Amino acid sequence: MSPIIRYSFSLLAVCVLFVGCSPNETPMLKETPRLVFKTEHGIQALSNVTAFVHACTPRDAMTPGAERAAQWLKEKLIANGLPNATIQTFKDKTPLGEQAFHNVEAIIPGQSQKTILLLSHFDTKSGISPRFQGANDSGSSTGLLLELARLIAVSGTPRHTLQIAFLDGEECKIDFGAQDGLHGSRHLANKLRQEKREVVAVIVMDMIGDRDLHIQLPHNSTGALRACALRAADTTGDRTHIGLYDGVILDDHQPFLDAGFPAVDLIDFNYGNAPGENNFWHTPKDTLDKLSAESLAITGRIVLEMINQL
Ligand SMILES: [Zn+2]
Repeated sequence: MSPIIRYSFSLLAVCVLFVGCSPNETPMLKETPRLVFKTEHGIQALSNVTAFVHACTPRDAMTPGAERAAQWLKEKLIANGLPNATIQTFKDKTPLGEQAFHNVEAIIPGQSQKTILLLSHFDTKSGISPRFQGANDSGSSTGLLLELARLIAVSGTPRHTLQIAFLDGEECKIDFGAQDGLHGSRHLANKLRQEKREVVAVIVMDMIGDRDLHIQLPHNSTGALRACALRAADTTGDRTHIGLYDGVILDDHQPFLDAGFPAVDLIDFNYGNAPGENNFWHTPKDTLDKLSAESLAITGRIVLEMINQL
């Protein structure tokens, strides 16, 4: 996850609250499954995070650890009922020269080819400590996305096609720029644009495992999707855990916005030992004991309800 780069206030953000999701735009070919994220799915998601962190630490981008993590995720997806999971290896310019990155992707075909993307980065910030867990950043969203993918895959054919992607190279080496950070998301966004894919929503999850969960929807997200997330949280009873944030957060959703796709970032950027503090972020204190199954379940409920409503 990336630092906040500016603050702003927008009346527009307030206005779009009333736009909401558009549940009836696509004709329903047949009854679509209503997706429900239960308490036990949160427990499974935390179990995934724990297994991932234990098996794939360290996993900084541009290292053999990241490549091993990509392989681990691909195998988990296949074992969880997504047989078309692949590793998409590509090269990109970086401050360390041209380097290889490894996105892990899988598709759950829907009744429509219109696509919803569910995304998490899986790399960790480099230079923190030799055995830096990155339990929340990036373990939490990675473990949750594995469980979301499994659940959707076993729930019958969804209305829209779901594309799952675990993104490499989110973290920057020096400072965010065209050749530093957001490598996996930039690559995937450009690919989808070239394929002229019809994308309904790009939903990025990041740092959503904190026991004290307060998801912020940054200003640089598509207004209708911010509204959709709030409405979904109303439906699931989780509204106290999510709100709008009037600043900008640079994260994996930004390249999709730049490519013209609707995108939203579900992130809790207060990750510390007191409300409003962020002193666990990008430190050796980002460890598994800071996470809870309930926080993963809250995010899981909101995301599945967004899919139900989109
Ligand atoms: Zn980070």
